[in-house]
Amino acid sequence: MLEWSGNSSPVRMMRSARIDHYEAHSVFHGLLEGEDYRNRVAGACIYCCPRCSHRIRFRWRSFYQANERSAFKWKLRRVFDDMTPALKTDEQGFLDFFCPTCAAPTRIIFSADDYAKLAYHFDIYAALVGAGTRQK
Ligand SMILES: [Zn+2]
Repeated sequence: MLEWSGNSSPVRMMRSARIDHYEAHSVFHGLLEGEDYRNRVAGACIYCCPRCSHRIRFRWRSFYQANERSAFKWKLRRVFDDMTPALKTDEQGFLDFFCPTCAAPTRIIFSADDYAKLAYHFDIYAALVGAGTRQK
């Protein structure tokens, strides 16, 4: 007989099995480290998909223009929203996309600090990556 355990629903189990959390430094190249910041976007950086190794170049502008627009349908977006922590920062944003090679849904989470009017520092916190559906 199956026993129902109160603290884990099948939905939650499925979610945690499908989406992985990657620290910024494990999937990005070219971020800056400083005394009071980590994983800062300066000019351009390279994201390497942990599922298929596809590389994507992101620019400072990519984060500036992200504006919480999402490539995901609302259901998938909800799942990612549930896994997105609230950062200890004034503002935070995210960039949602599907890997062009393996189609893994991917969210890059970053903090945004304005150090002058219309000038931002973007520090990447992590990437959440779902399962790819296509083979390389
Ligand atoms: Zn990929």
